[in-house]
Amino acid sequence: MKFGTYLFEPEKVLGFDFDLFRVKPEVGRRQPPRQDMYSNVAIFGDNVTARNHPEWVSQSEHGPALRTNDRYNFRWDILCPTVPEYREEMLKYIEEVDRASQGIWLNSIHFADHGHCTCPRCKEKWQKSGLSWLEWRKKEVTDYIAQIRDVVKKELVIGLLPDPVSSYERFGIDFDALAPYADAFNVVMFSKNYATPWYWEMLCMGFKKLLKKPMYISLYVFGPGDDPKEVPSPAELLTVSVRCGRTGIDGILYLAGKASQIVDFQKAAVDKIELRQKLRNYGCPEVLELVERWEKIVG
Ligand SMILES: [Zn+2]
Repeated sequence: MKFGTYLFEPEKVLGFDFDLFRVKPEVGRRQPPRQDMYSNVAIFGDNVTARNHPEWVSQSEHGPALRTNDRYNFRWDILCPTVPEYREEMLKYIEEVDRASQGIWLNSIHFADHGHCTCPRCKEKWQKSGLSWLEWRKKEVTDYIAQIRDVVKKELVIGLLPDPVSSYERFGIDFDALAPYADAFNVVMFSKNYATPWYWEMLCMGFKKLLKKPMYISLYVFGPGDDPKEVPSPAELLTVSVRCGRTGIDGILYLAGKASQIVDFQKAAVDKIELRQKLRNYGCPEVLELVERWEKIVG
């Protein structure tokens, strides 16, 4: 297994195998990539572009893909994925970011959710395609990833939302169709707590069965602006890491706003002597060895 950080600032943290920097998160703000970090790019989730181009926001019978639309669970504003100018611009952007960093980890590659996008352009493209609605959506998503694969010369990792069953109907995502273009998948499993590790472990097993490429998961340590009382406890994070790790996944990333919040987690994990002892028989020595590595750095 490999372990990485997943950060909103361009800082590396000692004690990990690699570091992923959110050069363009879904809020839409862009920061320059770093040569010695991987770059995380959210494509169609983009609050800044949605504000500047309201005509590009994805449409549906139940309203647009905006955070204010309570029919859906949108955490950010989402663009229609067939806007030619935006696709072109993102392709160039991703090519540049790849050149200036260790490689690309994508998020938000897909349609917003069930029933998106019904803008006039999408309706016309679908009708001309002769395909079923769902197959047309899948083709739009897959063909764009194929174009991205052509411009990314380094590692390309495709981010997935944690829905192993309905990603095709909801997002136009077909895991098998995307696999040939992906060096790996990253299933984001963000939560403000991991009090019931059973669910996360089950999701890992489900995805591990489905995905035909190496699979990472991403866990939530501390988001930007979070109240310290409302983030997962170090004990929950250690336990869920071990329980997910034993399903055969290939690695875990830890998300935080700042590198210092990851260091705080490392220190707290090192101090959990009794829990680390208890987790020895759980069947994932890799996570415990990671904490032993941290002991030498932050202990
Ligand atoms: Zn559309």
